[in-house]
Amino acid sequence: MHSFRYVNDQLTCENVPLAALADAVGTPAYVYSAETIRTNFRRLDRALAPLDHRICFAVKANSNLAVLNLLAGEGAGFDIVSGGELFRVQRAGGDAGHCTFAGVGKTRAEIEQALRAGVHCFNVESEAELAFIDEVAGQLGLVAPVAVRVNPDVDAGTHKYISTGKSKNKFGIGLDRAEQVYREAAARKNLRIVGVQTHIGSQILDPKPFAEAVAKLIPLVETLKAAYNLEFFSIGGGIGIVYDPALASGDPAWWNAADHPRRITPEAYAEAVVPLLLPLGLKILLEPGRFLVGNAGALLAEVLYVKETPTKRFSIVDAAMNDLIRPALYEGYHEIHPLTQSTAAPVVQDVVGPVCESGDFFAQDRPLAPLAAGDLIALLSAGAYGFVMSSTYNSRPLLPEVLVEGDTWRIIRERQTYEDLVRGEIIPEQ
Ligand SMILES: *Cc1c(COP(=O)(O)O)cnc(C)c1O
Repeated sequence: MHSFRYVNDQLTCENVPLAALADAVGTPAYVYSAETIRTNFRRLDRALAPLDHRICFAVKANSNLAVLNLLAGEGAGFDIVSGGELFRVQRAGGDAGHCTFAGVGKTRAEIEQALRAGVHCFNVESEAELAFIDEVAGQLGLVAPVAVRVNPDVDAGTHKYISTGKSKNKFGIGLDRAEQVYREAAARKNLRIVGVQTHIGSQILDPKPFAEAVAKLIPLVETLKAAYNLEFFSIGGGIGIVYDPALASGDPAWWNAADHPRRITPEAYAEAVVPLLLPLGLKILLEPGRFLVGNAGALLAEVLYVKETPTKRFSIVDAAMNDLIRPALYEGYHEIHPLTQSTAAPVVQDVVGPVCESGDFFAQDRPLAPLAAGDLIALLSAGAYGFVMSSTYNSRPLLPEVLVEGDTWRIIRERQTYEDLVRGEIIPEQ
């Protein structure tokens, strides 16, 4: 679900009309709905209620302190991939003891930081990493809790850049070698085996690959549980978000429709995996990122120019690929809606930014309401992998982020200034 809908022709987030918000903070700007994040979290949590479980939010999807704080308040743990993310979680009031530390390239400094903070687990991706964590833990006189990420070799049916569970991907240890790697881990005296982890990719809209991955791993998990007294099985993230092709509808009936053509709901996901997981008798960890925050965010922009060529119509907006790179990076899709609803017949157009790259587009050949200079638009589903992937390319300052709650909104990140842009840069003295 999400909380963006038209009320009296005005696109609103919860009870806040977005045009007024855009007026107050300027464009481009990111806006998030607290209600959407909470509802998504609670709905997934409820669907998994039969299991002893913890939802560990994948911080990389949206790492704003206010978002992390909101999720910590809901009882979320956190899946982190860097020392910076651990710092953010702690700064936001999250508990390091509920953090799982993932990623193929952890540095010595990051491992030391995580050990000292007392993270719940290191999710280990190679034998070399296992040896290195053992060494670093030994030097600190600590024992590192570890889980091995096992690659189940299933096809998640998603874009190749966000598919991770095939044996050709760089992630995890193959199912055939996993037991051997666990034996090696058990032999290292500064490691303590606590779990098994897997993650097959992102933006997965069909529950089947999740069930397939879990089913493939269960015999291994049972063997390891008997051998090493496992505490948990983490089944990763990857639950996709559903786009409404027709209108900015927050209508629960639409989102819950059983016959939705590309449907994944928390209930359908749970239905696929819970019966497989229950007999294990283990704690189950999940690492959703996009599902919790993706539909909770929008990027607001203003149309600067409309340019017609003999073959195309371009709406040039003030947001660009440096602000939201998903379309350019992996063909990410964002619904686009004018902040004031239009009744005019749609016209086919490209929506593009001002950056000097052909990849700087948000929509190509898409039928949308005819736009004119000065119109405000929202790019929906921008709450995950949006702001966090932004850069200052073309010396464009980073955007502000706003959190809406009911009738109120608060800036949760200030727009960068030109001074921010050059902070830390030095012209050497002659
Ligand atoms: C990226 C990632 C996630 C989160 O993926 P989503 O698609 O945002 O749910 C979870 N676990 C791992 C290991 C990841 O790399």
